Amino acid sequence: MKQSIVKCPGCGLLLANQSIAEPPRYHASGECMELYNQLSYYTMSHGQEAFIHQLSLDAYGAQHAGEGSRPITTAFSLIGLYLVVEHGFTGRQVQQAHMELGRKKTEWPDLTPPRAMGAITVQDVLQAEAGPVRDALIEEWVRYVWSTWSYAHDWVREAAKPILTA
Ligand SMILES: [Zn+2]
Repeated sequence: MKQSIVKCPGCGLLLANQSIAEPPRYHASGECMELYNQLSYYTMSHGQEAFIHQLSLDAYGAQHAGEGSRPITTAFSLIGLYLVVEHGFTGRQVQQAHMELGRKKTEWPDLTPPRAMGAITVQDVLQAEAGPVRDALIEEWVRYVWSTWSYAHDWVREAAKPILTA
């Protein structure tokens, strides 16, 4: 039987069909999500103060916005990417920023995801050698995903103001 291929609706990644259900809160194929879960084992066990897991969580979240995802996930992911790229925040600092923003009752807009967004995917990151090489690629992934959302940058900068002026 010929192996069928599944295309991830978020990042466009083509993967062998393993008939994995689409995750409920990401605009992603189950196969792509599975790669993200594998990456999470790595980032969660990284054991470093900078908490790189937050970077991959936000890069993946912003790259898989759309049908099924929640506006707050997209908004928080973009704010996280912004704080890392333009303000040099570590994952730990982004995590704290998210907690602060989460305390406020805000209506998060339903931001429309960009079209082309798969130049760097979770698969690239996972295929990079574990350690400094992979960690650097995670940061590159963050910068790349942030750049694909250029039309939302003004909104994100405004939404993140309370964090930066606190
Ligand atoms: Zn994907």
